[in-house]
Amino acid sequence: MYPAEFAYVRPDGLDAVFTAVDEYADDAKVIAGGQSLLPLMKLRLATPAMLIDLAGAGELSGQHRTPSGVRLGAMTTYRELQHSPHTLGLLPGLGETVAVIADTQVRARGTIGGAVAHGDPTADLPAMLLALEAQVHIGSRRGHRRVALDGFITGVFSTGLADGEIVTALEIPLPPAGTGAAYEKVEQPASHLALAGVAAVLTVEAGTVRRARVAMTGVTTTPRRLTAVERALVGSTTSDVALSEAAALAVDGVVPLDDVHASPQYRLHLLEVATRQALQVAARRAGARWAA
Ligand SMILES: Cc1cc2nc3c(=O)[nH]c(=O)nc-3n(C[C@H](O)[C@H](O)[C@H](O)COP(=O)(O)OP(=O)(O)OC[C@H]3O[C@@H](n4cnc5c(N)ncnc54)[C@H](O)[C@@H]3O)c2cc1C
Repeated sequence: MYPAEFAYVRPDGLDAVFTAVDEYADDAKVIAGGQSLLPLMKLRLATPAMLIDLAGAGELSGQHRTPSGVRLGAMTTYRELQHSPHTLGLLPGLGETVAVIADTQVRARGTIGGAVAHGDPTADLPAMLLALEAQVHIGSRRGHRRVALDGFITGVFSTGLADGEIVTALEIPLPPAGTGAAYEKVEQPASHLALAGVAAVLTVEAGTVRRARVAMTGVTTTPRRLTAVERALVGSTTSDVALSEAAALAVDGVVPLDDVHASPQYRLHLLEVATRQALQVAARRAGARWAA
């Protein structure tokens, strides 16, 4: 199927992007990798009159160390991230998460800015970014602001972006020494999208969990932190029993999605299993690093 007719601009530089976004307002959509937007346009679920391509804004690319972490430009593709040993060496869990997103073609085009701005409840990267406590840099003609990713995705395909705003970068703080991370997902075989995906980032000191950040995707209307699991983990050991007891809390109060791909009960089952597996792998990796 072909999309409805649309116009296209590729502004030169970020200021020109902001101007175009203001000028065309509701009639326009920005396009990054196009991996979610173009399928929607072909199905006529999105019919923007104007596409504003972000590819001409070099300010949206690049990966930089900041005093406390790493700043990744919104147009960083999954593939670029996969081939960034310096960034991946500083931020555990990211490389493993990106590697299970779709296929080579999608990873070559899809961007990290698009992954959070799209607000897809089944997207992989937001779960790991939540567990890594990422911040979202947002820009518009009115200026720039920075918010926590936690709370930025507000519902199915909706975010806290106001009119005229775009995501310009993601910033991720460096986790403390002794941290290990893991991402476990059970995927829908055709799309590779998560039926349940869980990211765990654990800091372990002498066999005791000191810090825990755990987040899920694919199960509810937005990716979100599993705070009951996190609370149960802090101060506990990394024994299989302790991790399994914490994982059992993942389903507490969760109202799961119900669609043709999985029943609510099955999604809850997958959530608990993926949580347990992610905790076990993250704890092992954290322990290994501590031992070293
Ligand atoms: C076959 C297939 C399989 C896939 N499988 C997976 C998978 O297994 N896991 C997974 O997580 N994802 C999967 N995806 C989705 C993929 O990750 C998308 O690329 C990603 O969700 C969106 O990134 P993009 O750069 O392509 O955004 P686009 O498609 O260009 O844009 C998506 C939306 O975000 C907006 N947007 C994009 N960038 C910005 C920005 N910087 N600021 C503000 N708004 C912006 C656009 O206006 C649009 O509304 C799959 C996609 C395909 C086609």
